[in-house]
Amino acid sequence: MKLSALTFGLAIAGLSHTVMAAKAVDEHTYSNLDDVVSTHLHLDLDVDFEDKQLEGFVEHTLQWQNKQARTLVLDTRDLEIDRVMYQSQNGQWHRADFTLAPRSGVKGAKLTIKFKQQAKKARIYYNSLPQASGLQWLTPVQTASKTHPFMYSQSQAIHARSWIPVQDTPAMRTTYTARIQTPKDVRAVMSADNSEAFVKDGDYWFDMPQAIPPYLIAIGAGNLEYKEMSHQTAIFAEPQILDASVAEFNDTQAMIDKTNAMYGEYAWGRYDLLMLPPSFPFGGMENPRLSFITPTVVAGDKSLVNLIAHELAHSWSGNLVTNATWEDLWLNEGFTSYVENRIMEEVFGRDRAVMEQALDAAGLRAQLTKIPEPDTRLNLKLNGRDLMMLLVKCHTSKVSYF
Ligand SMILES: [Zn+2]
Repeated sequence: MKLSALTFGLAIAGLSHTVMAAKAVDEHTYSNLDDVVSTHLHLDLDVDFEDKQLEGFVEHTLQWQNKQARTLVLDTRDLEIDRVMYQSQNGQWHRADFTLAPRSGVKGAKLTIKFKQQAKKARIYYNSLPQASGLQWLTPVQTASKTHPFMYSQSQAIHARSWIPVQDTPAMRTTYTARIQTPKDVRAVMSADNSEAFVKDGDYWFDMPQAIPPYLIAIGAGNLEYKEMSHQTAIFAEPQILDASVAEFNDTQAMIDKTNAMYGEYAWGRYDLLMLPPSFPFGGMENPRLSFITPTVVAGDKSLVNLIAHELAHSWSGNLVTNATWEDLWLNEGFTSYVENRIMEEVFGRDRAVMEQALDAAGLRAQLTKIPEPDTRLNLKLNGRDLMMLLVKCHTSKVSYF
């Protein structure tokens, strides 16, 4: 086996549920990880297309790090908090006091929950608002089918907090389960085991047994059908674009097999793709088990399938190990860009891989001329800015992907 990002990744993945030892300070979170860590989230949410909101509760299972601590601090942005309950160590539920501070820029509003004792679980009843930065709500006319609304999330980098009160930092990891209810003719999918979503009935259960950072929690809902491409891969898409997507991306299993041989076995079970409406601002998002893909890469000639190689590569670099703060996104994306190109070389040959290297290098040089000098460094000084908004501004000339 090559000594590569994988070796590094598996070593760190073994630290699930543990705050990383190196104390990089994440300026974008209010969470008090030194006191308490959420080890599991359970989401119970209704998808309300009428009011463009998610409504329900999230239950945090808590692992206390500090014997004296009695406070849980969570990140939120544009959430309405109804009430907070907590379960004491003897199993009884109580009401908890909480305060929601005024919103402060992109960081959002600090939610402080005080317990009388160290709680086992905390349950927060809330709803998102239509302007949630991490959710896109599309009316039927904005979709391929024109018949059903569509909703999807984009949590990276700091947008999970706009639809879940959570310790929204890449320095923590949590497993999750979810019950998602939708109108009966809508299918919901998540970055989790989607096998329950194969039956379309408006009531969906999800399980993500591997600990992930909150920026990888993802949801989509719409007029989605699915088609298997191989024993391990399927596509979820609106029916109008399903067959074309399957034809375009039917090398996905070959990509997985080649990457397994190079970097060790794929760790996440299935690898499915969710085709989003064309308005998705990124080319793709590496949500684990279910990459989100813009249909603009369905070119008809597989000329843009390096996007799939890239998002798949994140299953090794990025989703097994990631940056502790968003200032070091280059660690995540740098290894991934390398693995992406290795996959393309193995599946499509050296000539194509070298051509893509040349195109990417030319694109990078062009971008560097348009970016302020301080933002051309690998370690970015964000100074309160939202990393993803910065990247979207930098990627105006070509399909960009993260
Ligand atoms: Zn990426």
